[in-house]
Amino acid sequence: MRLFIISNRLPLKAQRVGKEFRFSRSEGGLATGLDSLEMSVEKYWIGWPGLYTENEGEKENIRLYLEKFHFFPVFLSSRQIHDYYEGYSNSTVWPLCHYFFSYVQYDRSFWQAYREVNQLFCEVAVSLIRADDMVWVQDYQLMLLPAMLRTYFPAVSIGYFHHIPFPSYELFRVLPEKADVLKGLLGADLIAFHTHDYMRHFSIAVQRVCHLNFRFGEVRLLNRIVHADAFPMGINYRLYYDSILRPEVERALYQLSQNLGRYKLILTVDRLDYSKGILHRLKGFELFLEKHPEYWEKVSLVMIIVPSRDQVKKYADLKMKMEEMIGTINGEYATLNWTPIHYFYHGFPFEELVALYHLADIALVTPLRDGMNLVAKEYVAAKRERPGILILSEMAGAAIELPEALLINPNDINEIERAICKALQMPKQEQLKKLRRMQQVISRQTVNKWAADFVAGLQNIRRRNDVLG
Ligand code: UDP
Repeated sequence: MRLFIISNRLPLKAQRVGKEFRFSRSEGGLATGLDSLEMSVEKYWIGWPGLYTENEGEKENIRLYLEKFHFFPVFLSSRQIHDYYEGYSNSTVWPLCHYFFSYVQYDRSFWQAYREVNQLFCEVAVSLIRADDMVWVQDYQLMLLPAMLRTYFPAVSIGYFHHIPFPSYELFRVLPEKADVLKGLLGADLIAFHTHDYMRHFSIAVQRVCHLNFRFGEVRLLNRIVHADAFPMGINYRLYYDSILRPEVERALYQLSQNLGRYKLILTVDRLDYSKGILHRLKGFELFLEKHPEYWEKVSLVMIIVPSRDQVKKYADLKMKMEEMIGTINGEYATLNWTPIHYFYHGFPFEELVALYHLADIALVTPLRDGMNLVAKEYVAAKRERPGILILSEMAGAAIELPEALLINPNDINEIERAICKALQMPKQEQLKKLRRMQQVISRQTVNKWAADFVAGLQNIRRRNDVLG
């Protein structure tokens, strides 16, 4: 069986180096999960290769190189990336789905580009796909694609996964193109979300906008069923749990302990994004310092921010405000022996990131909204048998699977301050007990299981639809 994954980006990124191209692998959780699918599934991937070129010769070279890995590029112009990716995807849909209503931007040209690019992806897919293939469309950049593909392939198996929250209808209804978006999604046989709440919001939107009723997660169209379901995405558990056994991680841990080992460490790891609640978290930490001089020179915050979308104004503004706050807090509280906030505006290699997870006494994960949040799960797994506390926002999808975390409402900076205090005082035995329970959950619901469950669910619906059709 052949499985076509279609996502905005390919897992290989092309970069121009002089007259040549260099390709680097961006191994996300999705690629790892798919690697574990049975050998009988032949995998293909369609997506943007990460660079612009109008030159047909260059396109052909990139195409030929990627083909060796079963990757197929969709070339986009800089205007398309601006209007479809930075525009409709990240300045309209993203803020809406994360409940940042006032950040939503409408621009007719964004929508036009979104449709145009979904159509481009469709054309590439149509040139490759056969009627007996399975197609798995990923995420909010490609919500029109399932229905577009359906017009070409009435009986092909199409699945869709929504990696971000699906908002409540009261919010979703403001999207002018809501009917088109829902119709686009309903082209799939299986539409999946991280949590039941997101799925329920989607079903209600379909009911109100398209006048179709979901019963037990299913809706009947003319000649097929569409199934909606929750499949919480996990991590490669063993990779994180066993990471400390690697010599290079042990070395990184030794280095870190030399430099930071005498402080209690609070770790935060996020992409630069307003949905991650970075400013609230800084205010919470500032309040903690203000109220608890007994922890001065004893507790440090290590803050990793991975650069993201800084071409979008809201993100550039957030970076400025964040850095201003960090400067103010450090300026006020730092001493010659102690820096309250260690701030990094770049990603870390895997070995150093897991060493930090392993060392940190507390992980402070406080998004205002988050589809899932994998950092929370990675921290719990990487701890292995070492104590540690996860402070987690109840607005993250991961909170549903991790009730043993210290759950907080990230909008309330007092709760953040109280949670930090509580974590610092929690007995080791209690920390270990909570961690073990969370590890049990995470070790069962891995990214491999997530991918396998989704594909099995999709096959099941297709078999039923084949009978109906
Ligand atoms: N991450 C990374 N290098 C870093 C910091 C983070 O590879 O320096 C990874 C992290 O391990 C996690 C992902 O980035 O797998 C972030 O995923 P999450 O679901 O927490 O947030 P998202 O960025 O998808 O909103």
